[in-house]
Amino acid sequence: MEDLSAQLAARRAQGLYRERQILRSPQGVQVQIGDERLLAFCSNDYLGLASDPRVIEAFCAGARAHGVGAGASHLLSGHSIAHHALEEELAEFVGAPRALLFSSGYMANLGVMAALTNRHGTVLEDRLNHASLIDAARLSRATVRRYPHVDLQRLDDLLSEVEQGPRLIASDAVFSMDGDIAPVAPLLALARRHRAWLLLDDAHGLGVLGPEGRGTLARHDVAPVEPVMLMGTLGKAFGVFGAFVAGSEALVETLIQQARTYIYTTALPPAVAEALRVSLKLVRAEDWRRERLHALIARFRAGARELGLQLAGSTTPIQPLMLGGVEAALGASRALRERGLLVPAIRPPTVPANTARLRITFSAAHEPAHVDRLLEALAVLPRC
Ligand SMILES: *Cc1c(COP(=O)(O)O)cnc(C)c1O
Repeated sequence: MEDLSAQLAARRAQGLYRERQILRSPQGVQVQIGDERLLAFCSNDYLGLASDPRVIEAFCAGARAHGVGAGASHLLSGHSIAHHALEEELAEFVGAPRALLFSSGYMANLGVMAALTNRHGTVLEDRLNHASLIDAARLSRATVRRYPHVDLQRLDDLLSEVEQGPRLIASDAVFSMDGDIAPVAPLLALARRHRAWLLLDDAHGLGVLGPEGRGTLARHDVAPVEPVMLMGTLGKAFGVFGAFVAGSEALVETLIQQARTYIYTTALPPAVAEALRVSLKLVRAEDWRRERLHALIARFRAGARELGLQLAGSTTPIQPLMLGGVEAALGASRALRERGLLVPAIRPPTVPANTARLRITFSAAHEPAHVDRLLEALAVLPRC
């Protein structure tokens, strides 16, 4: 126990201690933490649906109709008509033969990878992939090879070295801490050439990119059919909770038989599925949310350029401002907080060493004046 305290103290001394902020308000761009009212630029509620009254009403009606808890796993008696309808609607939405709901994106990635590969297999991962993809590969017991960020030549070389066993390429479709978009078409070409699976994690593209918000694959005209598997999350742009994997009939049936994070866990509350069905309708129908979001991103990028800030190459709602050291990132975050803005510092190990940053995210619920307030605050940050 003393060991733990010593480790915690060391972590604190390095500026790597993590603390939770207790929200007293609903999720939104204006939040209340303690007595502070803050304008937030850090949620993944990209379309502003987390507190939408229509989604809330569907959730309440769902609880009245189906009860609060699912009561069992999907394979016992937990798979309700609400889950089933949502799966069909999601499959149609992303243009896949089938979709399968999971309780979270983290669990979906774990389940897919362990079901499709084994100790004889090889998983190839972009260095900047989300932690859940990295952990999934470890759990699958396959050999894990990581390639430098979007280095397709290196990926090609690594694939050529694999002699036997299943191979699976895993990549964020939109990188969660950098906001850049994966080279989907070249990744697919490599997967085909080397007869590998390609798992694309579109946690940050779904709802935001492509026609009707169908995501990064739709934007690149790539269908989630073999060798492609799509993992989408429902707690970000969809504003609710949960995740799904979309792909072929055979893939989904295999997951139902073999994905341990699907089989050995309680199903999502059916009311969550009912909330998601309404949220999905809004995601598709309300193009103005995406238009507004992209206008806010453009406004921010133009303003930041004028200020001479170092912008990343991202065109998505994730706009990192690289600060390098942990202290610089923490200092910037504190300075913004003093001006009523909530933008937490992102530090290692969430991002590689020396790439601590402010991860600024935008939502369709922001207003142009909010972006201007952020820019005014960034303008007076001490430069490093
Ligand atoms: C958030 C996220 C996940 C995990 O999804 P949850 O539903 O929150 O568990 C997986 N992959 C990426 C890229 C993410 O950003």
